[in-house]
Amino acid sequence: MPDLFIDGTWRSALDERTREIRCPADGSLVGVVDEAGGKDTVEAIAAARRAFDEGPWPTTPAADRGDLLLRVADLLLRDKDALARAESLDTGKRLVESEYDIDDIANCFRYFGRAAAAETGRVVETGTASVDSRVVYEPVGVCALITPWNYPLLQTAWKVAPALAAGNTFVLKPSELTPHTAIHLMRLLEEAGLPPGVANLVLGAGPEAGAPLGDHPDVDLVSFTGGLQTGRRLMAAAAGTVKKIALELGGKNPNIVFADADFETAVDLALTAVFLHSGQVCSSGARLLVEDSLHDRFVDELVRRASRIRLGGPFDERAQSGPLVSAAHRAKVEAYVAKGLAEGAVLRCGGARPSGPEFEAGFYYPPTVLDECSSDMSVVQDESFGPVLTVERFSGEAEAVRLANDTIYGLAGAVFTTDEAKAQRVAARLRLGTVWINDYHPYVPQAEWGGFKQSGFGRELGPSGLAEYREAKHIWRNTNPSPQGWFA
Ligand code: NAD
Repeated sequence: MPDLFIDGTWRSALDERTREIRCPADGSLVGVVDEAGGKDTVEAIAAARRAFDEGPWPTTPAADRGDLLLRVADLLLRDKDALARAESLDTGKRLVESEYDIDDIANCFRYFGRAAAAETGRVVETGTASVDSRVVYEPVGVCALITPWNYPLLQTAWKVAPALAAGNTFVLKPSELTPHTAIHLMRLLEEAGLPPGVANLVLGAGPEAGAPLGDHPDVDLVSFTGGLQTGRRLMAAAAGTVKKIALELGGKNPNIVFADADFETAVDLALTAVFLHSGQVCSSGARLLVEDSLHDRFVDELVRRASRIRLGGPFDERAQSGPLVSAAHRAKVEAYVAKGLAEGAVLRCGGARPSGPEFEAGFYYPPTVLDECSSDMSVVQDESFGPVLTVERFSGEAEAVRLANDTIYGLAGAVFTTDEAKAQRVAARLRLGTVWINDYHPYVPQAEWGGFKQSGFGRELGPSGLAEYREAKHIWRNTNPSPQGWFA
């Protein structure tokens, strides 16, 4: 069955190109999918435009749109096993993590399903009896939704669910490396009864299949999650037609541990912060800032536990962490570590590919700790997006805040301390979109997600996540019109 979904029809690419998808854990063939080129994407944009301009989706009552999203949430859970398996085969991530993701994805659809109907407009008090005035919310139009490979369906859900809740139509372009769950989602949207042309899917490489989404005049909004360089390129492309744009970009997230932190909790969560999904998490706590007096004891224990982390494929139940997504990505992580060592970092564990027949065909890289780093090193400033932790020392609250804020990014981070007032003071001064206190990584769909500084702008999830996909229109009605005589 063909894999591009355009105007309610499944079809192949116009030039009949395809791409092999291989599992990063062992190189096995997962599937062969159709590979769109720019012309396919332009057709998908035209379909989304027609579906927006001619309806019925944008004017479907918000409560009915919400009901459809709730049906999709149920269908996602019905197909949870197949979806989790597909996500693990494409990404190489552990099956148990993919299963958590599918639950989160269903929750996201449920949250926006309910939010769709909750706020449809408001009356504005003008103080004039002969006037009524109200603000209504309308969809933005045709949305280009572009997503990365690390949480393929989760990042897709964070865009598709609010876009549909607000009444938009869209063209989705997932990462070329991880297309299978996006294909499955389109089937579920069809099954749930979404009208043709509202949801369109193109698969393929960014510069070909993705590029028209950035500059085509019929696209009204671009919502992008991915790397900083691609985000900058899309922002420039979108400027030509003044598209609305939301960017969820990279991070180099500080994890601050004060000497008075609960030791066991802080060590445990420092490991989760950086090594979850082999560090391929935008909010990964890849930059440990540890108070000087605690440094040696803390880092010794962290290294001891990091060295024991078991690597393995998605279906290896004893594995605690999986492979990196591709050979190219592993090469990037290796180059990053080499640069750190050349800059003077001290390798405490990891730093070389694991040996053994079970690792040969996959893109494995071990948990790696680089100690004695400083914030003038590029290894501290740049995102590796791999299982690599840099460690810096600090002394006191002011230095912790200064160092933590000293990168171009501002996505997320954490502070560990038993001093509640200090935690709140530090959290208030961190230039980050999300701050965890004595925790790392949790999120809820009710609260906004997004970055400060060059981690992007615009918000996903929460009420502002829905607001990204709506226009507020003010309708003023004079109930007692009469000439005003200004130019009589
Ligand atoms: P990427 O920028 O290489 O690719 C992301 C998407 O953009 C892919 O679908 C790709 O095909 C597409 N793309 C590339 N060039 C394009 C172009 N010229 N026009 C249109 N589309 C184009 O990023 P990646 O390697 O897939 O993902 C990793 C990055 O994503 C990391 O930097 C990570 O921090 C970031 N990320 C951020 C968040 C967040 O919430 N802030 C979440 C997940 C990932």
